[in-house]
Amino acid sequence: MDLTFILTEQCNLRCRYCYQKDFHDTRMPVDVAVKAIRAAIRQGADSLALTFFGGEPLLEAPALFEIMAEARRLEAEQRVPITAKVPTNGLLLDDSILRQAAEQRVFISLSFDGVEPAQNAGRLTPFGEGSFAAVERALKRLLAWGHPFAVYSVVTPANVKHLAASRQYLWESGVRIIINALDYAADWDERAVRELQSQYQLVGKLYRKLLKRKESFYLEPFDSRIAQWTRAGESRHCTPGVSQLTIAPDGTLYGCVEYFYRRLSSLGHVDSWLNRESVKAAARDRSAVPEECRDCGVRERCNNMCACINLRGTGRVNMPPESLCLTEQQTLFTVDDLAQRLFKERVPGFLLKNYSQSFHMLSGIEKLFEEMGVTHELAKTSTSQLLP
Ligand code: SF4
Ligand code: SF4
Repeated sequence: MDLTFILTEQCNLRCRYCYQKDFHDTRMPVDVAVKAIRAAIRQGADSLALTFFGGEPLLEAPALFEIMAEARRLEAEQRVPITAKVPTNGLLLDDSILRQAAEQRVFISLSFDGVEPAQNAGRLTPFGEGSFAAVERALKRLLAWGHPFAVYSVVTPANVKHLAASRQYLWESGVRIIINALDYAADWDERAVRELQSQYQLVGKLYRKLLKRKESFYLEPFDSRIAQWTRAGESRHCTPGVSQLTIAPDGTLYGCVEYFYRRLSSLGHVDSWLNRESVKAAARDRSAVPEECRDCGVRERCNNMCACINLRGTGRVNMPPESLCLTEQQTLFTVDDLAQRLFKERVPGFLLKNYSQSFHMLSGIEKLFEEMGVTHELAKTSTSQLLP
């Protein structure tokens, strides 16, 4: 089960595309998180994937590591494997936090949009200044740290023209797990979608080059979207209240983070755990396939059923925003076109990643972990749960 803890709604940045509208001064007490972990184990979860979220979760770093100490104790006592990750804007990463993250096996995902104009187009300080220099310093710290980590970038119409240069910059800096997500709440007009397409083609060239060199890496959107075809059985669907929960600082349970930000459809509380009727009602709300998607050929691979994206874009759980429709079609078209060419050319790295029975979709990352000398179970189990 995935448990996402909102440690705080405060943040030391003010990104233009932030999913939060308000930066409340909330803080999660340690015992709220521990109660949730205990309840999930008691209810029969066979593994737990913890995400420490915000706001900026490292503003509450002491609480995070206190929760983790108890989580590791419960993991050993109850024999329930636990992975943990913290997405961070990087401003507070210091030696002490990195040491504790290594000790407690907390995977770090650095939110960083890439080259300076890409980062500074959206990720601003509360004084309206760019954050590139500070976050690049955080990246260097992570690279010197010697443990696996990911970089997560948000792609918007304002920074899309730097997408390929940013992927290249991250790769050359030494990042090997490169994730990106589109800001679906933004206005993706025809011009921006065309730019997205040409940038994807450039990123595709990098992807092809790395596969040919048999490098170990994970590069979005190619790896996950190709695997939707070739590894269909391995994909995970979210089921709020069943496979995932978001826990508010006061202990209220929600289906995912966007429900929490809107304080919408609570599913229970850590003290009494899930309210069955509320979970059923949430499932009913999400189950209807959007009218406009019923005959769409890419329906099964589209993010159209993501309640988080839909709530953020249209305010309705099962109505995808138009920007999602336009960008998903473009993404899938470009990815499939490249995959077809890689298949025809029989590029060995591509065939191994996607068609070898003995090579899990995420083995590239596991191999990478091994190359970095990481031997604990972070490298062996639930790698998929560590990715966004
Ligand atoms: S770092 Fe995250 S929480 Fe903070 S302003 Fe940016 S998007 Fe929002
Ligand atoms: S591409 Fe558009 S029409 Fe097709 S499933 Fe996605 S949102 Fe629906």
